[in-house]
Formats: sequence, structure tokens, C-alpha cells
Amino acid sequence: MKTDFDILVVGGGLVGLTVALACAQAGFRIGVVDIEKPSEQLADSHDGRASAIATASFRMMRALGVADALVEGDNTHAGPINQILVSDGQAGEAPSPLNLFFDSAQISEANAGEPLGYMVENRRMRHALHAQTKKQDNITWIAPAQVRRIEAGDDKTTLTFDDGKTLSAALLIAADGRNSFVRKQAGIGVTAWPCNQKAIVTTVEHERPHGGIAHELFLPAGPFAILPLTGNRASIVWTETPRAADAAMALDDERFAAELARRFGDFLGWVKPVAPRWCYPLSFQHAKTYVGERLVLVGDAAHAIHPIAGQGFNMGLRDAAALAEILVQARAEGRDLGSDFTLAQFESWRKFDNTALTHACDVFNKLFSNNFAPLKHARRIGLSVVDKLPPVRKFFMKEASGQVGDLPPLLRGDSYS
Ligand SMILES: Cc1cc2nc3c(=O)[nH]c(=O)nc-3n(C[C@H](O)[C@H](O)[C@H](O)COP(=O)(O)OP(=O)(O)OC[C@H]3O[C@@H](n4cnc5c(N)ncnc54)[C@H](O)[C@@H]3O)c2cc1C
Repeated sequence: MKTDFDILVVGGGLVGLTVALACAQAGFRIGVVDIEKPSEQLADSHDGRASAIATASFRMMRALGVADALVEGDNTHAGPINQILVSDGQAGEAPSPLNLFFDSAQISEANAGEPLGYMVENRRMRHALHAQTKKQDNITWIAPAQVRRIEAGDDKTTLTFDDGKTLSAALLIAADGRNSFVRKQAGIGVTAWPCNQKAIVTTVEHERPHGGIAHELFLPAGPFAILPLTGNRASIVWTETPRAADAAMALDDERFAAELARRFGDFLGWVKPVAPRWCYPLSFQHAKTYVGERLVLVGDAAHAIHPIAGQGFNMGLRDAAALAEILVQARAEGRDLGSDFTLAQFESWRKFDNTALTHACDVFNKLFSNNFAPLKHARRIGLSVVDKLPPVRKFFMKEASGQVGDLPPLLRGDSYS
């Protein structure tokens, strides 16, 4: 059977490009379809977020050669997260002293001396991924392009585009984000629930060095995260009710900076926003199944979560690593890449882990995003109890750094090329 590609990936975002790269380095012929022009995706104005990349995920980025592209000479775009301080508080007041402190030194054996993760601005990650995909002769970009129809047959799946052109492959990977067109076309439903919150994102500069410490401060409306970027800079993820978030977004620069500083505090000296503000409505969503006919869902197309633990992209990276390994094994055994048997293995490898993490994030968010006095008291005590229990603390640190469970080769740092 002859197809244009072994695999077509619809969605050339962070997860789509990672899975495309992993599969291309394993020798598959890949087509990446995106609705946007690559130049639009690479514009600084495209995405103001930064992502916490867990240790194992960053190891995968090294294995794919993407981490090299994040380091330009002496200039690195990956800020190490050495420690994480989780505390509870009120805007304008010092955080509660009953807190939880994670230090990478406490899991130095499991982490081989690496930090708990790295903060990388999404625009930098996107540039690095694009640069790596360009080095692969077996990746073809089809963008901007709009898929109109998807037809899965016995031995291939065929995409028909707006202009009437068609492309075929043995397998279609949907990485087209939380509103996935492919998922909807395939009739795959989602379980979705709101959290009545929006996240305001911006970058700040501050007077004193942050020392690689990430701060997760739980305020009554939700988490206020101060995430260490390179230099004296931090990425802010400030969660509010939709009404308060809209009001904060409408403030002039001076008033916005003052509201932000009230929450940030003065522990790093002066602080000032140095980038545009972005606002993201937050909710949870999980696809009822990750597989269809010659189709598999990865990343936000399969599961979109609250950024409370900085895990959404990491979950997508784990999907990408597991799927690449399953496809490599299928090829080695002479199996069809798009067969039900092959794809069922992906679902059984990834769905339980993603479901557990989705629900854990939901529970944490509900527990911490309120001002109910007895609960506030209980969670402050809870944080300090976990802080005093080294095995429990270590368990959470290993989870956060992505070192738990059945890790595919890429997440262990082994490459296919
Ligand atoms: C405020 C905030 C902070 C976050 N922080 C973190 C963090 O610290 N760590 C972490 O791990 N995660 C974090 N996340 C989650 C993370 O950003 C997402 O999980 C991740 O971006 C999902 O990537 P994706 O490639 O699956 O989807 P997307 O980034 O949505 O990419 C989808 C791609 O598909 C393309 N597309 C869409 N429709 C079509 C179509 N019809 N045809 C073709 N192409 C199409 C789009 O152009 C895009 O390129 C955060 C999320 C938010 C909201």
C-alpha cells in the first residue's frame, strides 16, 4: 500500500512538533499540517506564556536535540527550577509561614543532580522545535492549510484540504489543541468542566536574583505563580475569577503594575512588568477515548487541564514519547501503524496517568482556591505536615519532575537518531 506519508500530524504546536520530531528521528515519513503560517507561530506576539518543563521532559528535549537549540553560545533560554516554595496567603500580606518547600538537592540521586525542571518561554521552545524539524528531510510542512474531510479506510487515512488536494498516511495524529477539529470530526466526545477562573500571564523583571526558586502562592481566587526565567526575570501566572481577571486586564499599566506588586511582595526588591499581558480562560477537558479509526489524539486535543501544577505540556510530551515508542515497536514487528491493536497500546499506556493527574489538579485547585476559614487553616497545616515528612515530600518532587511510572526511552534521555 502506497501513502504520501507514514504519519500525518494535524497541529504543529508544541506537542505536535515534538511528536513529529520524535517519529521523524525514528525514520518515519511525516507531514505536519497547521492552520497557521509558521511565521505567525514564530512571532513574539503569538504566545506570552512560559512552561515549566519537568526534568524527564527536558531530558527528552536533549535527546531530540531541541535543548541544544535553546542554548545559543553562552546564552541559555532555560532557567533551572532548583526549589519550589508552596504557601498560602492574602494579597498585600506576607505568606503564611506554614509552607511546603521542595529542594532538588533532596532527590539528587533520582535526578542525577539536575534541577526539578526548567522554565522556558513558549516562544523560545517553539523556535527551537521549528529549528530542529527543519533539519529533518523526512518532515514536510503543510501550512497554512485547512483540513475539510478525513476518511479512514482499511489501509490508510486520507485528508482532503480546502483547495481540494488530498494527502494520505497510515496514521493520523491529532495535536490540534483543546478545540481539536480532528477530534470533533471523528465524533470523539469530551468530559469537560469549568473552574470559573482565568489566568493572567506576563513577564516581570525584579531587582534581586530569584535563585531558581519557583513560588506557588495560593490566594483566595487561585494560585499566583512566580516562575524563575533566565536573568532577574520571572513569568507570572496570576489566577483570578473571570470578573476580576477582566478588570485587571483593563487596568492601565501603572495600576496593573501596582496590583501585581501587591501580590508579588517585595522579597525580590522592586518588580515591574516588562511584557504584554495575556489572559487565558481555564477549564478541564478530557477526551472519552484517545483513539479512533487510524487516529490517535495527543496533547491538549486529548486532555486540557488547569496550569496549577504546570503539567499540561509535560503530559503532552509524555504522550509524544510513548506514542513514538509504540510506533517504533509496531514497525519492528511488521505491524500496521494505524491498527486498532497498535493504537490501543497508546491508550492503555497514557490514559490512566493523564486521568489521575487531571483529577489531582482539579482537587488541588478546589482545595486551595477559596477563602473558607476552616479549609484555609486545614490546608496550611496540611502543607506544613507534608513539609515535615521527607518520603511524602520526595514522592511529590519525583512526580513533579516526571520521574515516576513506566518511562519510554525518550523520557529516559535515549534518542532514536
Ligand atoms: C496560563 C497557562 C500556563 C501554562 N503553563 C504550563 C507549564 O508551566 N507547564 C506545562 O507543562 N504546561 C503548561 N500549560 C499548558 C500548555 O500550554 C498546553 O498543554 C500546551 O500548550 C498544549 O500544546 P498542544 O500542542 O497540545 O496544543 P496547542 O498549543 O493548542 O497547539 C495546537 C496547534 O494546532 C493548530 N491547529 C488548531 N486547529 C487546527 C486545525 N483545524 N487544523 C490544523 N491545525 C490546527 C494550532 O495552530 C496550533 O499550532 C499552561 C497553560 C496555560 C493556559
